[in-house]
Amino acid sequence: MSQIETVGIVGAGQMGSGIAHVSAVAGYKVLLYDLAADRIEKGIATVNGNMARQVAGGKLTESDRKAALERISPAPALQDLADADLVIEAATEDESIKRKIYAQLCPVLNPTAILATNTSSISITRLASSTDRAERFIGIHFMNPVPIMKLVELVRGIATDNGTFESAKEFVRRLDKTTTVSEDFPAFIVNRILLPMINEAIYTLYEGVGTVEAIDTAMKLGANHPMGPLQLADFIGLDTCLSIMQVLHDGLSDTKYRPCPLLVKYVEAGWLGRKSGRGFYDYRGEHPVPTR
Ligand code: NAD
Repeated sequence: MSQIETVGIVGAGQMGSGIAHVSAVAGYKVLLYDLAADRIEKGIATVNGNMARQVAGGKLTESDRKAALERISPAPALQDLADADLVIEAATEDESIKRKIYAQLCPVLNPTAILATNTSSISITRLASSTDRAERFIGIHFMNPVPIMKLVELVRGIATDNGTFESAKEFVRRLDKTTTVSEDFPAFIVNRILLPMINEAIYTLYEGVGTVEAIDTAMKLGANHPMGPLQLADFIGLDTCLSIMQVLHDGLSDTKYRPCPLLVKYVEAGWLGRKSGRGFYDYRGEHPVPTR
């Protein structure tokens, strides 16, 4: 098992900033990298805002917030992750992007460093094969929003060694989260079950069975879900939802995973949900307004 003190994070979006947040609160030194300095700054500003909310809610003390923030440093270049004991890649859900990152990152990493991916759906074994450390490569799949959600799925690739698995498990334990182990099949456990439901909700909208509001209200009050499926899709990001459906469709070759054409259309329009200001709801005003 490796001793982890410094955690590098690639991608400072919704998930990367959340992982930086919980890692820093747990006492790890964090190095946060993204494509551009402004994205890293935005990620750190998000962490700051979310920590302030935790302080206001009595979940974090002001001095712990300050100390945690001080543990997060921007990493303007991938080379700046050279000292990390664990690097978690949380970049866009696109296999070619992830492979390019690993090709640039692996040569700068310490040979003993563990490389993890937060992918929601892509094969860990296949991603590992594009690195120089398949035995020290693992899926550490956080849920959104990271500071709130308790679960982390751990996914071993075919070559992942026990030391890497135990180190990842200990890391998640120190974050005060619960692990569940999934075999390496498309979309693992949570998204294998969740995304087909979201896709079906989008088909329900596409076929005119109900409006956005009707579908979300039906599932909130009729199935006791805390969020409607379309609200949840916007929260996850419609590009991420589409990528996961494509991975399920391609990986399991079953037409039941066919992404709904309406989901494709929203993504093509750049209506990616909350993060872009518009998806199944429009978030640009004071209250979210359904877009259909
Ligand atoms: P996001 O769009 O909020 O963030 C992605 C970030 O990756 C962006 O900041 C982007 O600039 C950065 N990026 C893109 N190419 C890069 C590169 N070459 N080098 C460095 N950074 C790069 O997406 P997200 O929701 O944070 O998702 C990130 C990962 O986490 C994906 O693999 C996704 O499947 C997974 N994930 C998402 C959720 C969710 O609910 N959104 C939940 C669990 C896991």
